[in-house]
Amino acid sequence: MRTGFVGLGGMGAPMARNLQRAGLLAGVWNRTTDKAAALAADCGCTAYPTLAALAADCEAVVICVSADLDVRAVIDGLRPGLSPGKIVLDCSTVGASTARDIHGALAAQGIGFLDCPVSGGVEGARLATLAIMVGGDEADFARALPVLERLGRKIAHLGPSGAGQAAKATNQIMCAGIIQAVAEAMAFAKAEGLPLDRLIDTLGQGAGSSWYFVNRAPFMARMNFPAGFRVRLHEKDLRICRDMAAAHGAHLPVVESTLAEYAELIRQGHGDEDISTIYRLKSALFRDDGVA
Ligand code: NAP
Repeated sequence: MRTGFVGLGGMGAPMARNLQRAGLLAGVWNRTTDKAAALAADCGCTAYPTLAALAADCEAVVICVSADLDVRAVIDGLRPGLSPGKIVLDCSTVGASTARDIHGALAAQGIGFLDCPVSGGVEGARLATLAIMVGGDEADFARALPVLERLGRKIAHLGPSGAGQAAKATNQIMCAGIIQAVAEAMAFAKAEGLPLDRLIDTLGQGAGSSWYFVNRAPFMARMNFPAGFRVRLHEKDLRICRDMAAAHGAHLPVVESTLAEYAELIRQGHGDEDISTIYRLKSALFRDDGVA
């Protein structure tokens, strides 16, 4: 399937390269045009001058941009070039209602739309090991599978339009609770004077372990939080979770407490660090936290 890629950020650029390696990538578009020109030159594909030109030349369009309004703006730009039978795959993390709105609008024109948010971070994007949660029509999913299989390892169709974003929101709520628990536990362990590396090695095999404990507790032990999953992005996702829960009349304590702590971290200038930086706040709960 002749595929175009929109949004060459931390996730999108390596995903587009994986499509190019599979011989699927016709070309790219990015708001900051230099990035599109550089990737196109490197991959030997087209840097389209407009979104409509990309849509007109491709059977499938993959989008990976930041947030709800950005996806809506990209769809508006694509629309003059879209025609019946084409399909749009949105890998951005946005609200389920945004996905359902776009699905409805495009379906009226015979254009397929799947919400396909991903999990696995920039490393998963690079290695094509992402988990991809898909919402939309069964037939569109079957058509899109050859593209999605080049981007991820675990690809699941979870229901009608919006189901992919609902699954992603579920994942982001879990991430919030787990990073909170790991950071709080690590701050406690440090205050108790435990040898942190040996502790991580040991508890990493225990019932309380998790991907975050094994992979992010070492960041906490070193007080170094290199770019991984940025606080700002998770904060954006948790706002989505808050809105989706509110539609059910629910107020989620894990989501709310994490949002409050992220607001504080952003205020302190740590918004572009990995979310394990929440350890800074947990350490400060103890006397002699050792944090400068
Ligand atoms: P990023 O590095 O900040 O890149 C964002 C991309 O979106 C850039 O190409 C940017 O263009 C483009 N963009 C933003 N607003 C736009 C607009 N209004 N119109 C057109 N293009 C626009 O973000 P990322 O880390 O790649 O994340 C992309 C999506 O994947 C987000 O929804 C994020 O939540 C999700 N995600 C991220 C991760 C992760 O670990 N990073 C993991 C899973 C899912 P410019 O180059 O012009 O700025």
